[in-house]
Amino acid sequence: MLEALLPWQEVMLVNLLKAHESRPMHAQLWVTPVAYGASRLAQRWLLARMCTAASALRPCGLCDDCRWVLAQTHPDVFWLAPLEAQGQIRIDAVRELRSFVDRTSARHGWRAVIVEQAHRLNEHAANALLKSLEEPGSQTLFVLLTDRLVDIMPTIRSRCGIWHLPAPDRVDALRWLRGRVDCSEQQLNQAMAYARSMPEQAELVLVKNWLPMFEGLWSGIRQLTQKRTHASIVVSGCKEIWQERLLTDALMQWVEDLIRTHSVLDSPEPESFLHHPELYRDYTELVVRQPRAVERIWEIWHRLVRVRDELDGNIQPALCYERILTDFTALF
Ligand SMILES: [Zn+2]
Repeated sequence: MLEALLPWQEVMLVNLLKAHESRPMHAQLWVTPVAYGASRLAQRWLLARMCTAASALRPCGLCDDCRWVLAQTHPDVFWLAPLEAQGQIRIDAVRELRSFVDRTSARHGWRAVIVEQAHRLNEHAANALLKSLEEPGSQTLFVLLTDRLVDIMPTIRSRCGIWHLPAPDRVDALRWLRGRVDCSEQQLNQAMAYARSMPEQAELVLVKNWLPMFEGLWSGIRQLTQKRTHASIVVSGCKEIWQERLLTDALMQWVEDLIRTHSVLDSPEPESFLHHPELYRDYTELVVRQPRAVERIWEIWHRLVRVRDELDGNIQPALCYERILTDFTALF
């Protein structure tokens, strides 16, 4: 099914198409925040170039090219993505890509390769892809998607035109969200905070009714600091949000708020500097109870950064979160 693009993606698509017209590049690397919807944008970029029945920005969704692109079965398009949710892209998949690149086009005379989560290419796969980027054959376009530019091999980076696709403006995002979900302004703002201002993820939080799960997390942390519960219980109570990669962000925000409260105790306007001002009383209580803990709290923050970076690998997230929460709340 042809889904509508989000307003800010539509603007981006126009820019990408114009740029390609004026200065064609055989490889592009799109750097987007998680939850930007980059693969949907890539799909629309393909449709804009392939649909023969309608205009570039309004593909018909019904012709053969459109239907094949939407079903990811187009003979001139190769989608490369990790097989498992948290796995790597391995060399076998890139070998298939090589034989795709060596074939001739079935339809329009050019072919496209989309690599989702390109930072998950393992070393061998990345080197094999590099070969294809160096000898792309005639009329093959590569689009690599990532949210982690630092993890893309410099040799691959140097062969691509790099595009940074920013998170949408907050006012636009809130307007879009208001039209989609029926809830209070406070709920909208909370969901946006948990989703790091990515509106589609904020929508997911609201539609799935996960706000109470975050509240459960905060009260779980409160009880942990009072030694009234166990970290495993708190973590298992928010399984859906750690599976959606929202838990690390939430915990990082909590820790950041606590560190900020350390430096600005007794503020009349906690909302001006906190992710979650509604928790200001909790933060203050902990800061007063353990005023010297700030360096240890920083250590926790760095551990969370590592967990976030390793979520793509083979770590056991639940266990990691449990350990971090246990160590963290033991500080108080
Ligand atoms: Zn079409």
